[in-house]
Amino acid sequence: MSDAPYGRVGLIGDPVEHSLSPAFQQPAFDTLALPVRYELWHTAAAELPARFQQLREERALGANVTVPHKEAAFAAMDSVSDVARRAGAVNTIIVHDGLLTGDNTDVHGFVVPLRERGFAFAASRAVIIGAGGAARGVAVALLDAGIVQLTIVNRSVERAVAIADALADSRVSTQRLDAIECTADGADLLVNATSVGWDGASPVDDHVLGLLAPGAIAYDLTYRETSFLRAAARAGVTALDGLPMLVHQGARSFELWTGMTAPVEVMWRAAVAARTARGG
Ligand code: NDP
Repeated sequence: MSDAPYGRVGLIGDPVEHSLSPAFQQPAFDTLALPVRYELWHTAAAELPARFQQLREERALGANVTVPHKEAAFAAMDSVSDVARRAGAVNTIIVHDGLLTGDNTDVHGFVVPLRERGFAFAASRAVIIGAGGAARGVAVALLDAGIVQLTIVNRSVERAVAIADALADSRVSTQRLDAIECTADGADLLVNATSVGWDGASPVDDHVLGLLAPGAIAYDLTYRETSFLRAAARAGVTALDGLPMLVHQGARSFELWTGMTAPVEVMWRAAVAARTARGG
């Protein structure tokens, strides 16, 4: 156990230096006068076993896990929550008595901004573009929220099929990305869960956003304005970026570590300021 006069929480990933998490997690601990430091724990894949062992031995509250270790973390926990098991990934580790419990707060974080906008899950059809770890978490979130139909669309369709097989839910279907026009036609929610966006590109042609149902939402997990979201706005579709999701997943993680209600407004303002400081 560490002798430090403060508790530690860290972000495990490779890379981690770009992360906004310290910028909004530290103000949350400070606001509640909790003697905790949120640190960046850059960890290569080969270092993961040692990192998890260190968590067990130190006075750590827990950790967040990011790309590319969420699946590896899932496999290394002493126990996992039901939602983490269905998402197949762990983004939050809680340490208790030297044991590691894995959870997935991305699922919660994704759904909160939709609830805040009054999205009618039980009367809606959704399309997810992407079939990586984030897409699987989004699929779990939408199914749990009661979505009527869900299509997972991916460039490599076999990855979408693998997620559908794992979820084993009759509401889920899959499609190739080059058939997006048919799939998006009349959909109520289109989610970009690909990694395309950070580099200025979009996974679909702009006119696809114009095919969505009246009142539809285009949701990009990228936490800045993207070509996808600009095309949505031009098509008169509500555009939602990934920053609220990031903050809400972090707030849920904070609550799992501390047992206290997260100061979400403080976290939100800090996240917006940090994003602005980095040029949006
Ligand atoms: P993965 O690397 O696991 O998956 C990437 C996905 O993007 C795959 O489906 C891949 O398709 C697709 N893709 C990549 N390049 C292209 C391309 N040129 N054209 C079409 N599809 C492409 O990433 P994650 O699932 O971990 O993350 C996805 C995104 O979600 C990232 O941008 C990440 O930052 C974001 N995210 C945001 C969160 C938030 O809180 N806002 C939380 C978690 C993630 P293929 O299988 O064919 O290669």
